[in-house]
Amino acid sequence: MFRAHGFDFVAITDHPKPGQRGTLDLSAAAEASTRWGSGLPWPSSEGLIVVPGYEYETPPPHFAHTNCIGRPGRALTIYDGAGGTQGAVDQANADGGWAFFCHPNVFERADLMDGVRGLVGIEVINAGSVSYRAGRDDALARGLAFDVWDRALSRGERVWGLANSDFHRFMEGEPFVARNVVYAAERTWDAIEASIRRGCFYFSTGQSIDRIDAAGAEFAIRAPGATRIRFVGGGGAVLSEIEGDEAIYRVRGGEGYVRAEVEGPGPAFRTRPQLRHLPTMAFTQPVFVRLEGVSERDRHHA
Ligand SMILES: [Zn+2]
Repeated sequence: MFRAHGFDFVAITDHPKPGQRGTLDLSAAAEASTRWGSGLPWPSSEGLIVVPGYEYETPPPHFAHTNCIGRPGRALTIYDGAGGTQGAVDQANADGGWAFFCHPNVFERADLMDGVRGLVGIEVINAGSVSYRAGRDDALARGLAFDVWDRALSRGERVWGLANSDFHRFMEGEPFVARNVVYAAERTWDAIEASIRRGCFYFSTGQSIDRIDAAGAEFAIRAPGATRIRFVGGGGAVLSEIEGDEAIYRVRGGEGYVRAEVEGPGPAFRTRPQLRHLPTMAFTQPVFVRLEGVSERDRHHA
């Protein structure tokens, strides 16, 4: 099913049951997919890379969720120690995987991420939380976390943004809206994961970007079909905005970082009438700016 929607990889990150211990591997992911009742042959879908993962929850009353992502074919330990979020992140890294902090605004406890070391990213778009709350005033405030991400980046943390589905029953939450698009040398998990760690990906609710070029003091974006491109800097400040599908930002120095936001013709959520005003969008990772105004990130092309 994910393959049919153009996905090359997917991680199924169930919540462990209270007190559940043990490890997850590819066969656990296969079981999870059949347990969801549709008999979906995800793990055997041709070319689809199924990555083991689970969603760690700190014991109440803290309500911090962290997605721990493993490696296909290798066990991923479900962390149940006393170390909380930091313990889960450390365990995922020890198992050859990585971790990102989930939906910081859903429980309004973004502070629980502060001081946690070794996170690769933050789930900036939790499409399920937006979709579940369609028609409610807090749909975007809870489901999106650009404020949290910009605060972390402004503090100098190198955490990448991600967009994920977080649906709990099939088709609930529109599972195919959110995606992370990775520039990888080949369609293998090793290559994909290496690119994710380096921030060579963008995240999207349907709009695509076919050129991200950060070289010297210029940050160029091309996104076919896009209607608007915005460059955002430290603190979430809008640096410039143009209508169209191509834009270049010339670094002035002092921005801290620059990232791009692209709006498409939308709508992102097709089955939620209350969300039809939300356009398809795409978001680049930040390019960090040195004081003299030169990007210190590796030049890379789409
Ligand atoms: Zn969660």
